[in-house]
Amino acid sequence: MKKLLESLKVPSGKKIDLRQDYDPGYIGHFMSKEDAEDTTAAGIQLLAQQQDKLYAQNTYALLIILQALDAAGKDSTIKHVMSGVNPQGVQVTSFKVPSAEELDHDYLWRNYVALPLRGNIGIFNRSYYEEVLVVRVHPEYLERQQLPPVLNDQNIWSRRFLEINNFERYLVDNGIIVLKFFLNVSKDEQKRRFLKRIEEPEKNWKFSAADIHERACWDDYIDAYEEMFNNTSTPYAPWYIIPADHKWFTRLAVVSAILETLDRLHLAYPEVTIQQNEELLAAKVEMEKENVDNAGGIKKEKKKIGKKS
Ligand code: ATP
Ligand code: MG
Repeated sequence: MKKLLESLKVPSGKKIDLRQDYDPGYIGHFMSKEDAEDTTAAGIQLLAQQQDKLYAQNTYALLIILQALDAAGKDSTIKHVMSGVNPQGVQVTSFKVPSAEELDHDYLWRNYVALPLRGNIGIFNRSYYEEVLVVRVHPEYLERQQLPPVLNDQNIWSRRFLEINNFERYLVDNGIIVLKFFLNVSKDEQKRRFLKRIEEPEKNWKFSAADIHERACWDDYIDAYEEMFNNTSTPYAPWYIIPADHKWFTRLAVVSAILETLDRLHLAYPEVTIQQNEELLAAKVEMEKENVDNAGGIKKEKKKIGKKS
């Protein structure tokens, strides 16, 4: 898996070609869904164990960012990959079109307040990266941001890349590990999934007319994504381009990348100090005494009852 993950990681400081270099249908050395099932299940179980340590240690936080075009499987990836973890230690935030209040702040504000607490996993379903994606593809979103005209110039995208890199450096330097996934679905597979959402009544709610408008901007999005990868995949906060035409492979790759990242943190339950150990033993002795006292009480009670009868 290590080799496979390395091939999905966007190299820092090297230009990639999203259309040429990354195949949405890639499934590694796995033959089928069934072939990968055991590995994925084991990964999900291991993730639960690692999360327990992350939570107990209360030192690091993990921020997982998910970006994708519509119907690439962000929601189902979250649902499956996180199915074993303790919900108390995970928060998912979905970022939609900004509200009036959000637009009155700088663009990182709403993301900042949603960052995971130490010991927790935070999942951003879309994120501040929309600021160099949808906002770039649809300039009217930028107009709504009321930026001073002098700052709304052609350098805005390179400035935003720099701001994002600095922000992530700051997070990592404060113990918030940043992991970024792009679920790379093909245009054909997106069409298949959209048609399913239209044809199957229980999936109708997942489809919106806006999805078709966004699909029409496919090439602009791929260009924006490519430039984003080439400017924001850093050694401290790398991007992974996850093949997303086969959902079972997406889950396997995402859980593996999360595990590899957590592994590097050498998570462990907090060590008990000599004093804490003494306190634990004293508490145990105290409770054992309780049992003896209770047993004595019961004996006395029985004797009393015996006398009466
Ligand atoms: P689903 O898979 O269920 O469709 P979704 O993440 O696409 O989930 P939607 O409610 O359909 O959720 O769409 C949210 C929309 O909000 C997306 O089109 C996204 O591009 C847009 N959005 C997110 N952040 C911003 C932003 N900062 N500025 C403008 N639009 C944004
Ligand atoms: Mg949508």
